[in-house]
Amino acid sequence: MSYVAPIKDMLFCMKELAAIDEVAKLPGFEEAGYETAQAVLEECAKLNQDVIAPLNWEGDKYPSSWHDGKVTTTPGFKEAFRQFAEGGWQGLQHPADFGGQGLPKTIGAACGEMLNSANMSFALCPLLTDGAIEALLTAGTPEQQATFIPKMISGEWTGTMNLTEPQAGSDLALVRTRAEPQPDGTFRIFGTKIFITYGEHDMAQNIVHWCSRASPARPRA
Ligand SMILES: Cc1cc2nc3c(=O)[nH]c(=O)nc-3n(C[C@H](O)[C@H](O)[C@H](O)COP(=O)(O)OP(=O)(O)OC[C@H]3O[C@@H](n4cnc5c(N)ncnc54)[C@H](O)[C@@H]3O)c2cc1C
Repeated sequence: MSYVAPIKDMLFCMKELAAIDEVAKLPGFEEAGYETAQAVLEECAKLNQDVIAPLNWEGDKYPSSWHDGKVTTTPGFKEAFRQFAEGGWQGLQHPADFGGQGLPKTIGAACGEMLNSANMSFALCPLLTDGAIEALLTAGTPEQQATFIPKMISGEWTGTMNLTEPQAGSDLALVRTRAEPQPDGTFRIFGTKIFITYGEHDMAQNIVHWCSRASPARPRA
């Protein structure tokens, strides 16, 4: 499947509707004006057009498989994810203090849109990792942030979102999972989660599971 990123339309929206040059007047975003957006989008388009989109057809032919408790992703996904991570794309909109690029979400959203359009099944892993990073930035302790965020930004680890339970799908008021603090500082997690996208895969060393009403699990590695 081929994909051509609509860079011209995206830049038009950023300039005329989202006023990217006004965003660049905000403290911390001084380098993030129209020209930066253009340069970032052009690079992002190359990765998505040349590397990520062609993997769609591979995914149809050779989907992820499960053997002996291990998930093996489509051939090419692992290498593409490495390229994605090494290019700094996972950290594009996350704080420089944790190894990100600290760019505004106006630019991050356009890059995310390219990734989603190029290959939705690949994109879900970075998308869920973004969510786990955001959750930690919002509610994590400084220690949790320092432990988990830099490794997720670098792509060594990825993240998941664990909301759904057998009795709680659309209605998340029904979730029952709870985390009980233990004397040694860890948590015991009680409950059952289902439908965890990228809950197991071979693209990263470790997978950080973020549960609603719970703290992140300790790293496996
Ligand atoms: C491929 C896949 C990946 C997923 N990945 C994740 C993940 O990574 N993390 C995660 O937490 N969850 C994940 N989910 C779960 C997903 O978010 C839930 O399936 C979704 O929220 C719907 O819940 P449910 O399946 O229990 O359906 P239900 O909530 O039981 O809904 C069943 C039907 O009833 C309808 N319905 C429900 N409530 C109402 C209402 N109030 N009014 C009218 N109609 C209603 C729905 O539209 C649907 O047609 C995934 C699901 C799939 C299929």
